[in-house]
Amino acid sequence: MIQDIDVAVVGGGPAGLTAATYLRRFLRSVVVIDGGRSRARYIPESHNCPGFPQGVSGTGLLRRMREQAEAFEVEITTGHVDTIVREGEGFVVTAAGRRWRARKVILATGLADRLPEVPWAEAAIACGALRLCAICDAYEASDQAIAVYGPGAVIGGHAAFLRSYSARIALLPTDADLAHEAIAQAQALGATLLPPGGTLEFDGVHCHYRTPDGGVHRFDTVYPYLGYEGGPSLPTGLRLDSDDSGALEVDAHQQTRVPGLYAVGDVVSGLNQISVAVGHAAIAATHAHNALPFVPRAAAPG
Ligand SMILES: Cc1cc2nc3c(=O)[nH]c(=O)nc-3n(C[C@H](O)[C@H](O)[C@H](O)COP(=O)(O)OP(=O)(O)OC[C@H]3O[C@@H](n4cnc5c(N)ncnc54)[C@H](O)[C@@H]3O)c2cc1C
Repeated sequence: MIQDIDVAVVGGGPAGLTAATYLRRFLRSVVVIDGGRSRARYIPESHNCPGFPQGVSGTGLLRRMREQAEAFEVEITTGHVDTIVREGEGFVVTAAGRRWRARKVILATGLADRLPEVPWAEAAIACGALRLCAICDAYEASDQAIAVYGPGAVIGGHAAFLRSYSARIALLPTDADLAHEAIAQAQALGATLLPPGGTLEFDGVHCHYRTPDGGVHRFDTVYPYLGYEGGPSLPTGLRLDSDDSGALEVDAHQQTRVPGLYAVGDVVSGLNQISVAVGHAAIAATHAHNALPFVPRAAAPG
């Protein structure tokens, strides 16, 4: 049993839900297949999301975006898309024992953050003791005691960025690879370099860094920069262009090298932000609609 549709959207985060809403409003048949692990679910409260002057939680935003899509009768299915296979000029998409024959596919599969390997990571994110995105929320951490945790090769630049928000910045290296210009620059800006190889602890409110010699340093906020789990999540059956991090490269219409296959949001190389994801989605959905066969509307009765 296979279902024919205009567009299959893989991923139901801000990017996928926006694309689906646009497509239904273009009167196209569309299904969203979503694994339910949007990065946005971790957002305690976003203050840079357009239209929410009092802030909005990630789960609250996802709920509203889902409601908006469903108000236009978008079908949202829970499941993990395993394969996307080219069939003629379209695609066959398989998930959770179901199959769709789609003329176009929009990939909105996002990324999965690599978190510190501690059982308390999600609890610390929920209370802002761990933050994952300085562009998103460094403003809220202004003047706090902030630490940047990760490999020596990457933390220096992030520490320098955060230095404009607080005079109290510490570097917590996870390795001894410290001979980096960015680390020297951060130190020149007043950031403190702590000994590498310590452990992160959480007391329910704050994170602490215990150095190998037993020193304990308490922070209001720690930003781990540990990269993403295995790069973007992509169904098999696709060979696409990507940058050094594995993020997809697309053209000005968000189209990959495969005609009819679009990519939007964090899975695409660029700035990982909600406003960027919804912008990508609007561009891809509009291009996909214009590339689909024109369907003249029958005269309204009466
Ligand atoms: C702690 C935190 C705070 C943040 N704060 C902000 C902020 O304040 N402002 C801001 O603009 N951005 C913020 N972000 C970033 C923001 O969450 C992302 O940019 C945004 O969620 C990207 O949307 P997306 O739809 O591309 O991907 P996602 O929201 O990650 O959604 C991708 C979806 O695709 C699904 N999926 C993946 N693979 C498959 C598959 N094979 N089959 C089916 N489904 C699949 C996943 O389960 C997921 O539901 C924050 C991120 C984090 C982690």
